Amino acid sequence: MLAYPWGAGLVIDLGVRKLAVDTPKPVPGAFHIVTHAHADHIGAARKALSLVTPETHEMLKVLGSYQTETLSYGATRTVAGAEISFLSAGHIPGSAQILIDAERRIIVTGDWKLESDVLQPGAELPEDVDILFLETTFGAPQYQFPPRREVYPELLRWVRANLGVGNHVVLFGYAVGKSQELTALLNSAGIVPVVPERTHRVNALFGLKDVLIGSEGWREFVSQPRVFILPPNYGDLLPALEVELRRRIVAKSCSGWARNGFRLSSHADFWQTIEYVANVEPKLIITYGGNALQMAAVLKRQGFNAQPLSLLRSSWF
Ligand SMILES: [Zn+2]
Repeated sequence: MLAYPWGAGLVIDLGVRKLAVDTPKPVPGAFHIVTHAHADHIGAARKALSLVTPETHEMLKVLGSYQTETLSYGATRTVAGAEISFLSAGHIPGSAQILIDAERRIIVTGDWKLESDVLQPGAELPEDVDILFLETTFGAPQYQFPPRREVYPELLRWVRANLGVGNHVVLFGYAVGKSQELTALLNSAGIVPVVPERTHRVNALFGLKDVLIGSEGWREFVSQPRVFILPPNYGDLLPALEVELRRRIVAKSCSGWARNGFRLSSHADFWQTIEYVANVEPKLIITYGGNALQMAAVLKRQGFNAQPLSLLRSSWF
């Protein structure tokens, strides 16, 4: 078997057929799989028919024109003698780990996290894994995130305090994934946020309540202090929005990278990664994504057979 990274994804050559997972472009002759609807993972699906979960299929319909066929969690699809199925990944709604049952049992985690959130349970722990392709974006000891049972109440306290003194509140989060988690959290506290169109359309897939910017009645709605959920690239617009809405705006980011915001990550942190591997006990671990070198070194020291995908390039294993 041959495997190599490409963009946020990878190519696994099973000998009879290549599997292209989350590649930015189609791979000639390959069978394509997209693990979830984040922009850096869906490039190939613009031109090549790609296997996705039904939830990801619905999200991609909102995001543009993509070629997809669906496979529900737990169902099986046979490709060149290998049985392929999806396990929940806990990253964003619709995200999947890929189980490839061929001569060996292979798992590709895709983006994942172990911790449950307000919208979905954490990643399912697969059994009897021979080879684990492990995404390690935050796979270094400095990445330790506080648990959501602490962050959620802290965020809601901050939101209520600011609304209480007459401020608008902006929470920054990606339109796909993080914005749905934030909307669901606010809804659970009886708060209806104000959102832009893409977020509104994805929210609607999951039955979440919001008010669309520019919709009928939204001006009246924002005459009171409200919470806005906006993609991070709206940051530059805040001064103009403050003038337009004639109300002070306070803003915080919600991401694993947010040093001064709420550390709500859709990825596993260092300790979740250690916990996942300790439970799954794969025979071989191939790390990929950010911190792949460092995480492979840590896992090796713990006695696992681990190496980064980047060093496997052009080598059979
Ligand atoms: Zn992602």
